[in-house]
Amino acid sequence: MLVPIHEEMTREALETRFSPRALEIIIAANKKQDALKGQIGHDEFHFDNNALDQSFRYITEQRGQVIATLLGPGILGAWIAFGRLLHTAQDFYSHTNYISLWLDQFNGTHPPAVEIDPVQKSMIDSPDLHSGKLYLPFDVLYFVPFLRKVSLALLPRDSHAHMNLDSPKQGSRFEYARAAAVKRTQHELGILQKLLTPQMFARFTDL
Ligand SMILES: [Zn+2]
Repeated sequence: MLVPIHEEMTREALETRFSPRALEIIIAANKKQDALKGQIGHDEFHFDNNALDQSFRYITEQRGQVIATLLGPGILGAWIAFGRLLHTAQDFYSHTNYISLWLDQFNGTHPPAVEIDPVQKSMIDSPDLHSGKLYLPFDVLYFVPFLRKVSLALLPRDSHAHMNLDSPKQGSRFEYARAAAVKRTQHELGILQKLLTPQMFARFTDL
């Protein structure tokens, strides 16, 4: 997803759950994953290039980092790891075909986006789940607005350019990706709430 959308969704999902200071650090860490350094050679940050297992593992590792930090006296590392985790979890919906698989089960009559289940196990475990492949150099041309049409014409259907739901420009499925990502953000906080002691969770949310 585009950087401002990551920020907007994270704010919407967590605004009432964290102190403003914690929320700003979480958002900054989330957005940082899309800096150039986080784009090259880091498919696992964004569910790119079919790095599904690596991306799921990355989420688990960052969750472990949140817990490990909170076991010590520090707190910053927990917020930063949570921001990184959320970036990947949010990109799951814009870079894989999860939304298409979810919609396909309804045979044409799509429920509204608010109904989306962000963690339907049968979809997450589906052998049909895949993400957009980066075909260089055409996938780079896609990011140059006036070359977008040409690059789309040259790229196969399983390319990042064809599959991504990064912004509202990608059509009606974007709304589902966004709704799923907001719910997933809250779901990830729920997982941590279950794993942490009430004292640790209170420190984490800093309220
Ligand atoms: Zn990303």
